[in-house]
Amino acid sequence: MSEYEWVDHTFDVVVVGAGGSGLRAALGAAQAGLKTACISKVFPTRSHTVAAQGGIAASLGNMEGGDDWRWHMYDTVKGSDWLGDQDSIEYLVRHAPDAVYELEHWGMPFSRTDKGEIYQRAFGGMTREYGNGPAQRTCAAADRTGHAMLHTLYGQSLKYDVEFFIEHFAMDLIMDDDGACRGVTTWQLDDGTMHRFRAQRVILATGGYGRSFFSCTSAHTCTGDGNAMVLRAGLPLQDMEFVQFHPTGIYGSGCLITEGARGEGGYLTNSQGERFMERYAPSAKDLASRDVVSRSMTMEIREGRGVGPEKDHIFLHLDHLDPDILAARLPGISESARVFAGVDVTKEPIPVIPTVHYNMGGIPTNYHGEVLTKKGDNPDAVVPGLMAVGEAACVSVHGANRLGSNSLIDLVVFGRAAGLRCGEKLEVNGRQPELPKNAGNNALERLDKYRNAKGGTPTAKLRLQMQKVMQANCAVYRTGDTLNEGVAKIAECYEGMPDLSVKDTSLIWNTDLVETLEMDNLIAQAAVTVTGAANRQESRGAHAREDFSDRNDEEWMKHTLAWCDDKGKVTIDYRPVHTYTMSEDIDYIKPKARVY
Ligand SMILES: Cc1cc2nc3c(=O)[nH]c(=O)nc-3n(C[C@H](O)[C@H](O)[C@H](O)COP(=O)(O)OP(=O)(O)OC[C@H]3O[C@@H](n4cnc5c(N)ncnc54)[C@H](O)[C@@H]3O)c2cc1C
Repeated sequence: MSEYEWVDHTFDVVVVGAGGSGLRAALGAAQAGLKTACISKVFPTRSHTVAAQGGIAASLGNMEGGDDWRWHMYDTVKGSDWLGDQDSIEYLVRHAPDAVYELEHWGMPFSRTDKGEIYQRAFGGMTREYGNGPAQRTCAAADRTGHAMLHTLYGQSLKYDVEFFIEHFAMDLIMDDDGACRGVTTWQLDDGTMHRFRAQRVILATGGYGRSFFSCTSAHTCTGDGNAMVLRAGLPLQDMEFVQFHPTGIYGSGCLITEGARGEGGYLTNSQGERFMERYAPSAKDLASRDVVSRSMTMEIREGRGVGPEKDHIFLHLDHLDPDILAARLPGISESARVFAGVDVTKEPIPVIPTVHYNMGGIPTNYHGEVLTKKGDNPDAVVPGLMAVGEAACVSVHGANRLGSNSLIDLVVFGRAAGLRCGEKLEVNGRQPELPKNAGNNALERLDKYRNAKGGTPTAKLRLQMQKVMQANCAVYRTGDTLNEGVAKIAECYEGMPDLSVKDTSLIWNTDLVETLEMDNLIAQAAVTVTGAANRQESRGAHAREDFSDRNDEEWMKHTLAWCDDKGKVTIDYRPVHTYTMSEDIDYIKPKARVY
C-alpha cells in the first residue's frame, strides 16, 4: 500500500463518534486528565442526536404523582420484555436524575413548569407505581430535546481539552495478535490523508444502522460503521434482530413525529374514526409501548381499516389540542407535518405509519462500557482496549424493545460511565507499546479495493435492493418463510458486492467512496439482523413472529451473539441475560406477561 502514507497520533483515549454518547464519554475522559481525541465523520452538532425530539427520561418527580427510580426500573425491564440486563438497567435509572441535573447545570435549555422546574411529559410505557397509570417522566426542551442536549454537550467538551478530528471517516479498528484493541484508522475526507490513532482505549460511539432499511427516521449517516468494524475485527454483535419501528413516522417521507405528541394528548384513529388503541391496550391506550402500538396499527391496516386512498396508513390527531400548547410544546413537529405532509396540525390529522427508528442490538458491553465477547465458558469476557456507548452499544438496557426517551438518558449515563472507567483504569499519558508492524493495512486494502471498484452496479442501486429486502422481509410482523427468504435475498445482495462500481477515484470529498464503505458496513449488519430474526423462534418485544407468537422464556430468554465473515456468513451463539441487579436495594424483577 505504498501509495498511502500514515499520519500517526497517540492518545490515551480515542472516541469515535460525536453524538450525545461520544461527546459525553470524551468529555468525561478529558475531565479525568486523559489525553482525549474525538473523531467524527460529520461536524459534531450534525450527529443524529440533534434530531431527537421528545425528551430524556429520569425520575425527577417534578410533576403531579411524583416518581421513583424503582418505577422507572420496572417500566424499563417490562419494556425490554425481560431481555434487558437488570444490573445495567439499575445503573441507568439510578444515575438518570443526576445525569439530567448535570445537563441542566451545563446550561441545557429545558422547558419549565410554572414552578420553574424541568418540565416532564408522559411517554409510552412510562408508569407510576408499577403500571398504575401514566408517569410524567420525560424531561423535554419543547420537541427539540436532542438539539438542546447536543449543543450543550459540544460546548462543554470544548471547555475541557478534547481534541476534535472532524470529517474523519473511521475505517477499522487496529487489533493485536492477543485480541486487544490498540487503536483505529481514519481517512480525512477534506484532504485525503490517512491517519492511524494509537490509544489505550478506543470508545465506539457511532450510533445505529437505520439505513439498512428503506424507510427510517434516522439520518443518512446512520450506517452503523462501528458495529461493522467490530464484526470485521472478528467480534460478535448482540440482539441485532430487535429493530424498533416507531408508530408515527410521516407517511411517505418517514420523518418522525415524536411520541411526545401522544404524551401531550394526541391519539390515533382508523378509517372509521375509531380510537382503536383502546381495544389493544385498554389501560395505556395510545401510550402503550412502541412495539405494541406499531403492531396494532399494522393489524388495523391489514384488516382493511387503514386511511387514505390505499388504506395503508393511520391518522394521528392533535387537532383537538389547544393551539397555544402545540406552539409551545410541539413547534418542531407542527412544522414537519406542514412541510412533509402538507397538514395544519391545529385543523387536520397527520398521516402516519410505523417506521424503522432504533436499533436495540449492537456491540455487547457491561455497564462500564467495556466491550464483551464470549471466551470459552466465560460469556462476559472483556475485550481489552475496546469500549462502546450509545445506540452502537448493547449494554443491554433496552432488551427487546426500548421505551421512548430511554435512549437519550442511556447516552449520557453510559457515556459518563465510560469516561469514569477510563479515569479509573488508565494512566495519564501512559506508555503504550509500539503498534503491530502492519497496523492499519487491512483498512487500506479495503479502501483501495472499493476505490478501484470497476464493476457495473452503482452503490446506490445495490443499497436500494438491500433496503427493500429488509423493509419487506424483516418487518413489524415476521414469519419463518419471509425471514428465510430475507436471508437468501441478502445473500444475493452480497453476491453483488464484487460488481460495485465507484466512478470517482480521488481521495478528497469522494462521497461515492464514502457511501460504498458505508454500504459494505450496512450489508453485514443486514445479514446479522435478518439471520438473527430467522433464528429466534419466539415473539419478544419488537421481534413479532406470527409462527411463534408467544414469548418463550425457557428456551429464548438469552441474548443472541452473532459473528459475520466477509462473505456475509453469520454464526450464532448466545449469552445469558443478567437476571440479577446491581445492588441489594432492589430485587430482580421476575418475568410475567406483558400487557399495557
Ligand atoms: C428522529 C429521531 C428522534 C429521536 N428522538 C428521541 C427522543 O426524543 N428521546 C430519546 O431518548 N431518543 C430519541 N431518539 C433516539 C436517539 O436520538 C438516538 O438513539 C441517539 O441520539 C444516538 O446517539 P449516539 O450518540 O449513539 O449516536 P449519533 O448521535 O447517531 O452519532 C453518531 C456519531 O458517530 C459518528 N460516526 C459514525 N460513523 C463514523 C465513522 N465511520 N467515522 C467517524 N465518525 C463516525 C457520527 O459522525 C456521529 O458523530 C431519536 C432518534 C431519531 C432518529
